Amino acid sequence: MIKEIEVKVLPANMNDEAALRQAVLKKTGFDPKRIKGVRLIRQSIDARGARPFFLCRFEVFVDEEPTEVPRLLDAFQQVSHRPEAVIIGAGPAGYFAALELIELGVRPIIFDRGKDVRARRRDLRAIQQFGVVDPDSNYCFGEGGAGTYSDGKLYTRSHKRGNIYKALKLLVEHGADPAILIDAHPHIGSNKLPKVVANIRETILQFGGEIHFEHRLTDILIRDGRLHGVVLNGEKEFACKAMILATGHSARDIYQLLQARGVYMEAKPFALGVRIEHPQMLIDEIQYHQKVREPELPASSYRLNCQVDGRGVYSFCMCPGGLVVPAATAPGEIVVNGMSMSRRDSAYANSGTVVAIELEDIPEYHQYGALACLEFQKDVEQHIFQAGTGSQQAPAQRLNDFVNGRLSANLPATSYIPGLYSAELSGLLPKFVYERLQKGVQIFGKKMHGYYTQEANVIATESRTSAPVKIPRNSSTFMHEGVEGLFPCGEGAGYAGGIISAAMDGQNVARALAKFLQS
Ligand SMILES: Cc1cc2nc3c(=O)[nH]c(=O)nc-3n(C[C@H](O)[C@H](O)[C@H](O)COP(=O)(O)OP(=O)(O)OC[C@H]3O[C@@H](n4cnc5c(N)ncnc54)[C@H](O)[C@@H]3O)c2cc1C
Repeated sequence: MIKEIEVKVLPANMNDEAALRQAVLKKTGFDPKRIKGVRLIRQSIDARGARPFFLCRFEVFVDEEPTEVPRLLDAFQQVSHRPEAVIIGAGPAGYFAALELIELGVRPIIFDRGKDVRARRRDLRAIQQFGVVDPDSNYCFGEGGAGTYSDGKLYTRSHKRGNIYKALKLLVEHGADPAILIDAHPHIGSNKLPKVVANIRETILQFGGEIHFEHRLTDILIRDGRLHGVVLNGEKEFACKAMILATGHSARDIYQLLQARGVYMEAKPFALGVRIEHPQMLIDEIQYHQKVREPELPASSYRLNCQVDGRGVYSFCMCPGGLVVPAATAPGEIVVNGMSMSRRDSAYANSGTVVAIELEDIPEYHQYGALACLEFQKDVEQHIFQAGTGSQQAPAQRLNDFVNGRLSANLPATSYIPGLYSAELSGLLPKFVYERLQKGVQIFGKKMHGYYTQEANVIATESRTSAPVKIPRNSSTFMHEGVEGLFPCGEGAGYAGGIISAAMDGQNVARALAKFLQS
């Protein structure tokens, strides 16, 4: 018999295995001789009361031995001589689609505009230190996609969209800490993710797949409503009858290409705003009610939302103990995002704080059709760059000055390596965005006492929250209705919003593609 029980554990006792086992045995009430094993299966933190504690769920094996969970990779097969499918994009959607195809006996051939994770690192340094943005290799483009040099939060609310456990288990089998399988808010960290991504690449190659870096999709060949092939780097034609298009939310050239080729798309509402950075100690004090965080507790986070004048204002992609990073994908634009290392030990807590944008908010962009939201997003990012210092330095304001419409005389310390300069963000952000943010952060200050402070930096602009365009597909075949063989996938197609949901979408699309090849 396997019995599940839940135990409350104080942080100081979390590393004391003997005491934990004792607490579990006591709670089961069984004779200890009958207990053959105890396994931790879920762990979360409850910080609502005066003192935070861990809530741990255990499986207790009574009169039976614990079983080993089989390795998913054992079911993989060699696909060198099997039917092929092209995947554009080596982000989570593309790589997990490739793994799924291999399991199903289809040979994935992947093309990505960027470089492998290692080479990519040099280009990130060039953005951070010299403000040089390579349009093919940056925080969004390159092996592992936008998810690689990120916070590596693996939490998703998309439970109905796929098998979260399978996606997490595959990450563990490629080197991620097994703790992600039990943590309620799993996280890997930017220092560990690249190795996991490189291991996934090795699996794809080992089982017969192909991966080509520095191969940008520049055209798709469509005849009589059917996909016939792709063109890479403007010169190399590659024939194919099935392609997973998983190019992420920042591949503006792809949306433009599809529009030029008459592929149906829709403008997609998204969200835009700023990134707000507080001292981590302040957030810990608010959330854990402790001046100094107990060492067993992770850097604390928050999630805030409210409605202002008919639109949602909410925190997004919170990075406790993290860094704000320059996430532009082309020269001449300012875009910020957040990331953190596995230990989440920086002195700062940052999160995107954004306003939902509906199509009716931007009537002057309707002339761009499906690209309306994209053009608006681009204009905001470029306007902020043009008003700036000609580098990746980002404009910022103290939080209370932001609300009161005052230029900050100076700015608090920041994790943002290219640096901040003081600016009135009311003049840089669209008025309807600024005004909602201004009200929203005051509401947040009431919900989370201490949040509204002069010690926080408001940094512009957080604009790559999700895709501004949708590439619709049939809900059962997962194929584009107008182009046979084209499988829009992941965040760029509007079907995911994060690492795990993109990975699960890749798996779902791969299964649909395998069926298509068999038909
Ligand atoms: C800094 C940062 C931090 C983030 N933190 C988190 C987090 O902590 N947790 C979380 O869940 N999500 C996070 N995200 C979001 C997450 O990374 C994305 O939701 C996810 O990566 C989407 O996966 P995808 O595979 O659909 O697309 P992407 O990851 O965007 O991958 C698209 C791939 O396509 C390639 N590509 C683009 N155009 C072309 C072309 N023309 N030809 C060939 N290849 C092309 C790109 O090089 C890229 O590798 C973060 C994003 C950023 C930028």
